Amino acid sequence: MSKVSVDASTCVGCGLCEQSCPEVFQVQGDGIAHVKAQFCGMHDLKEVAEQCPVNSIKVS
Ligand code: SF4
Repeated sequence: MSKVSVDASTCVGCGLCEQSCPEVFQVQGDGIAHVKAQFCGMHDLKEVAEQCPVNSIKVS
């Protein structure tokens, strides 16, 4: 099972990950994307991670 994390020190809150996979990512009131779930049956989380402009998403 994959392990998804967002580096809060580099995330700029652009919301791209939430747009790509709202099942897993949510930009909250602190302006940082949070991980709500470790799995999504619809989206490739590694692809979402590659879209992050500041490379904050790690999928292992
Ligand atoms: S795509 Fe990257 S920078 Fe943008 S909200 Fe998601 S984790 Fe943060």
